[in-house]
Amino acid sequence: MKSLCYVDVDNVLADFTSAAILGMGETPSLNFRVTRTKFYKDYGKTRQDFWDACESSEFWRDLKPYPWAHALVNMIDDITLGYWRFVTAPMKNPAQFQGKAQWILNHFESYFEKYIICGLDHEDERTKTLGKSVLCRSNFDYLIDDSRINVEEWRQAGGLAFHWEEITADYDEQEVRNRLEVIKFDLLEIKKADKFFMANR
Ligand SMILES: [Mg+2]
Repeated sequence: MKSLCYVDVDNVLADFTSAAILGMGETPSLNFRVTRTKFYKDYGKTRQDFWDACESSEFWRDLKPYPWAHALVNMIDDITLGYWRFVTAPMKNPAQFQGKAQWILNHFESYFEKYIICGLDHEDERTKTLGKSVLCRSNFDYLIDDSRINVEEWRQAGGLAFHWEEITADYDEQEVRNRLEVIKFDLLEIKKADKFFMANR
């Protein structure tokens, strides 16, 4: 079994939060680290305002890739030799799935086949959904995600993870470089463990 690297889309590669804030008629703050998932409350908005803002297919299609999105994906692809996937958990509206698929096609056409949709973002007592962690099959499967819950569940499932704390597109470039270096180091360590090359031994 080969290990895979999984990279979350929203708030790691695609700037979801800024688009949602704009969609609610507000101006996103610049140069900061997002510290709460219910950010709409910071703008005096309700959960319904937030849902309304990101309901359409076009909203998801038009999300801006972060400046580092291609560098991160290309680095992952180079090191893993293709053993990686986009992994994303849209909301409960098929139009959003369509917009998200279109986003991948628009920005990462050559990697479109690496697109995985999974369930809810975290364990739900009612549905018993485990979110992304159901994809974790080995101790060397590696998740990059802005959701602390996803990262915790992934680690509990036995895998390795990098918690990409959400930052705005104009955030300190050195911080971004540092994060890419840590991910590169981790992936090279996994590669050293020979998990990506089991078939070629
Ligand atoms: Mg995310």
